[in-house]
Amino acid sequence: MTGLRASRIGGPGPIEVGGTGAGYDVARVREDFPILRRQVRGRPLVYLDNAATTQKPQAVIDALGGYYSGINSNVHRGVHQLSELATEAFEAARETVRAYFNASAVEEIIFTRNATEGINLVAATFGRANVGEGDEVLISAMEHHSNIVPWQMLCEASGARLRVAPIDDRGELILEEFERLLGPRTTLVAVSHMSNALGTVNPVEEIVAIASRRGVPVLLDGSQAAYHMPVDVQALGCDFYVATGHKLYGPTGIGVLYGRRARLEAMPPYMGGGDMIASVTFEKSTWNVLPYKFEAGTPNIAGAVGLAAALDYVTAVGLDVIGAHEQDLLAYGTSALEQMEGVRLIGTARRKASVLSFVMEGIHPHDIGTIVDREGVAIRTGHHCAQPVMDRFGVPATARASLAMYNTREEIDTLVRALERVRDVFK
Ligand SMILES: *Cc1c(COP(=O)(O)O)cnc(C)c1O
Repeated sequence: MTGLRASRIGGPGPIEVGGTGAGYDVARVREDFPILRRQVRGRPLVYLDNAATTQKPQAVIDALGGYYSGINSNVHRGVHQLSELATEAFEAARETVRAYFNASAVEEIIFTRNATEGINLVAATFGRANVGEGDEVLISAMEHHSNIVPWQMLCEASGARLRVAPIDDRGELILEEFERLLGPRTTLVAVSHMSNALGTVNPVEEIVAIASRRGVPVLLDGSQAAYHMPVDVQALGCDFYVATGHKLYGPTGIGVLYGRRARLEAMPPYMGGGDMIASVTFEKSTWNVLPYKFEAGTPNIAGAVGLAAALDYVTAVGLDVIGAHEQDLLAYGTSALEQMEGVRLIGTARRKASVLSFVMEGIHPHDIGTIVDREGVAIRTGHHCAQPVMDRFGVPATARASLAMYNTREEIDTLVRALERVRDVFK
């Protein structure tokens, strides 16, 4: 299987472009991402929409091609050699994911389509079994719609109540309020590890500690955190953790749900179908063992293989050095934007990562996005699937530049120049 794993990996080298020192060679890393060589609107691409999805290293592209050209077949079924190879690759990918999140066993790693499906799975199964009339689900005011709507649907169906812990003007969770809202009827806490709209990194260790003291399980939405910082689900002590492959430098259509084994064992299945059963008769079917109980139908085999290649790549470069590089860019970008007249940063938490969300006085965020696009700069504008966050800050939308391992200080300079042009247009 090693032939399908990451083969070209950015390592320390002599040249540093806008780097942070400490041997991180961003120019070398950029070489591994072929899309960064293309032009957009006649200019070099400056990709700053990473919180929506990240670009893919060659190792991931090769793994996908290698899977389809070398071993494609269905898993867990055939006795023929290709099926054995595909099954081996798929299960090796699960082990790579387990190690990345430091889960204690591969049985605790469920492959999903994305983070959204992971959250819906927990809402539909844990929720159906445990959340009833009068119970409460506690989330925070900074959640992505994916971590709001499934709980709303569950509450509507069960007669439970959705409680929302507020955030302050910096975009930080108000922990005292969170603790106050965690009542005797709270059945589940679901909060993001890191906000996609604000960049806030939540004090998840404390959140888990507070909830655990009352025996309330915690789901963490790691869609953002998982590609900016090391995640250790055992150290965190959470019951569920979700992540999404396409933000982790992997393919679309593959995601991860970590669940503590005892929780998963006690939960009913999600979708019914092939692979998730032990036996089927028209009278009664019985469920397969973990993790297959939650993986009905043919899974995204190539996606899992591609995700494993992405995790191998990120691990080889090192999440700690990636995180340090991104923190340097964040500080650099924050101070550049703070110095710009008429620019207001939305989300100034003391602990934050990789997100510069902002508004410009008198200019609609969509106009900002359109004008900087002409300079080859890709940012996101809108509510970022977090409308309640926009309401909290009294803005309809923000412009958001979000950073990843391959971005440079020069790219932030280009963004700032483009924003100056925006301001000139509206003078
Ligand atoms: C992107 C994102 C999601 C949803 O990810 P999908 O891949 O669309 O399922 C959920 N939560 C946060 C914080 C995100 O950034």
